[in-house]
Amino acid sequence: MLSIHNASKHFGTHAVLKNINLQMNTNSIIGLAGPSGGGKSTLLRSIQQLEVLDSGDITCPEKTGFMFQDFQLFPHMTVLSNLSYAPTVGNKAIDPMLHQKRSLDLLEILGIKEKADYFPHQLSGGQKQRVALARCLMMQPKLLLCDEPTSGLDISSIRDVIGLLNNIHAMGVSMIIASHDLNFLTELADRILLLKDGLILADIEPKKLINPIKNLQSYY
Ligand code: ADP
Ligand code: MG
Repeated sequence: MLSIHNASKHFGTHAVLKNINLQMNTNSIIGLAGPSGGGKSTLLRSIQQLEVLDSGDITCPEKTGFMFQDFQLFPHMTVLSNLSYAPTVGNKAIDPMLHQKRSLDLLEILGIKEKADYFPHQLSGGQKQRVALARCLMMQPKLLLCDEPTSGLDISSIRDVIGLLNNIHAMGVSMIIASHDLNFLTELADRILLLKDGLILADIEPKKLINPIKNLQSYY
């Protein structure tokens, strides 16, 4: 569903992605681990075409959705408007009202329908996370790119995120999840890549290892 061939990217003289190659199977969850500055966000942003590669190519025939680390909700819009507005961007012919039902259905699935008329500043971090996830799903992506989805969340909210992402995966959505939280990634991912200094140093299947976290930590 995703094919990356010799992807390279510099910022100035700093090589941030160095000849990255990756083949991703449909219906899988890939975790992107590795130290801060390793290139995780840049790789996700390149897949979403938010960054332009210097060389190499990324082929993804499916629709992708991106969940930003800081959520990037529209602060002046209610939860419901944040959702129903998303599919109308660049498509003025569509009436936002038409999306209200789907928005409310998604808020229900994510357990946050009662906050439909709240503004982002009135929500907790975990609640904003759910809204951001719901807003991504409005675009019906087949591949969801999540950048540090647990950052700033407490342990019980992290458990909720694992449950939510598993539910979304069961709906047929593949994912690439960047996170520094190895416990979180090993619970969710079929496969974990360790990205350090722009190189994939490890590519493991956590369920096949006795101690996947120790294995990954050895590369930091
Ligand atoms: P990670 O998500 O693994 O922490 P990033 O992809 O955010 O890593 O960053 C990789 C490297 O690229 C870091 O050294 C970071 O400072 C640098 N970098 C990221 N974005 C930019 C940018 N827009 N301009 C210059 N340097 C950047
Ligand atoms: Mg990052």
